[in-house]
Amino acid sequence: MSNYKVFIYACPDYDPDLITGLISETIAMMQLTKPIQGNIVIKPNLVMAHPKVATESYTRCEVIEGIIRTIRKKGSDINRIDIVEKSGLGITTATAFRHAGYRKLRKKYGVGLVAMEESRQVRVGLDNGKIHKSIRVAQALADRDFLIFAPKLKTNVLANAYSGALKLNIGSIDSKERMYHHNMDLNKKMIDVLEVSNPDLIVTDGIRFAFGGNQMTQHGIDLGVLAISANAVAHDMVCAKMLNLDPFQIEHIKEAIDRGYGPKSFGEIEVLGDLSIEDVQKKTKHLDYGFYPVDQFKCNFKIISGTPYCTGGCQGIFLDWLHMVKDRKPKTLERFPKLTALVGKVTEKVEDKTVLLIGDCAQASSNIHAKRIVRIKGCPPTHKRIVWDMMINFLLLAPLVRPSLVWDGFGLYPLKKIKGWLVNLKFRPRQRI
Ligand code: SF4
Repeated sequence: MSNYKVFIYACPDYDPDLITGLISETIAMMQLTKPIQGNIVIKPNLVMAHPKVATESYTRCEVIEGIIRTIRKKGSDINRIDIVEKSGLGITTATAFRHAGYRKLRKKYGVGLVAMEESRQVRVGLDNGKIHKSIRVAQALADRDFLIFAPKLKTNVLANAYSGALKLNIGSIDSKERMYHHNMDLNKKMIDVLEVSNPDLIVTDGIRFAFGGNQMTQHGIDLGVLAISANAVAHDMVCAKMLNLDPFQIEHIKEAIDRGYGPKSFGEIEVLGDLSIEDVQKKTKHLDYGFYPVDQFKCNFKIISGTPYCTGGCQGIFLDWLHMVKDRKPKTLERFPKLTALVGKVTEKVEDKTVLLIGDCAQASSNIHAKRIVRIKGCPPTHKRIVWDMMINFLLLAPLVRPSLVWDGFGLYPLKKIKGWLVNLKFRPRQRI
């Protein structure tokens, strides 16, 4: 009998009763490594949620409701249940909670909504970190007794096209640490965090599957899948395969396997439930995931990709920005000016009226002949920086440039950060190194 079990179920609707039933049944059949008791933390994917421009990027509240009901049914001596998250793009997590409908869960079930940037945090030392020797996480996450990951099944060009349980860990850390080595080392960084937040149970929302564009703005299809297991590596191996991806080519899954966090082969995994991997593969086999080298994106820009090629850094983030425009404002692509964009260090001679340099490595390209050079610095530049600089320099408005989101990102977010700073000043976060 295998130690690693992954259950795949047909779940056609966001029906909390059905979801609760499936999770409860599964828990009775699987061997959890610890009891569901004490302080429970649920970590969803709320990188962004918005009713107009980010409709498919996040774990739906009905799935979280199913998890909460299961905890109440199957757990014992529950002290508290917290949903802990840090959203992306410099938008407040509170707004993501609101847009994703999580506030009604707080009202209905009394669960806590913990937005990392404004809550108590603690620094935790890592024994095996390759990139981080310590990380700062929400205190609720560090102090939990039982951790449940609730990823959204979707593609992500920054992570070899696959976003699942392991990728969720980037949302366990805050902005500065999140962007540190967010380059070719992204995969190692993600698995470093696993030392602090290795989930005891994973429930993936694959009822709608988002694919083919930017991780936040891409569209989706009905896939009708709920995947459940107790090991993040086995879980991601099976989910990636369902999407016709080779998990051994996905660097963060490979990194987790190499560090001994899960099975080394499919032979060690038992796939159960009422759907097979092949059933799902049939639905996903003709889908285009938009994961290709950035210089192959078709638009008016002539894109030259230099060295290094950072899937999790400049190349990936610029490709993600291009996809964002294509996903929600495809007509803007026609308005792109003719220019040459360099991503990574380019040694060949570059001649154009306008040259755009994306990231610190591109700034080091020396053989450039242009009337106008526009620089977007950073290693890598953040999504927010690229969105802003492309707007200021070329009047190209990404779909996320909306008054409410601009206020949220540039007005509210700094205020929340100040609140977080004050909270942690007052409570003096413990250093666990
Ligand atoms: S500047 Fe960009 S290309 Fe260079 S190492 Fe950083 S992320 Fe990679």
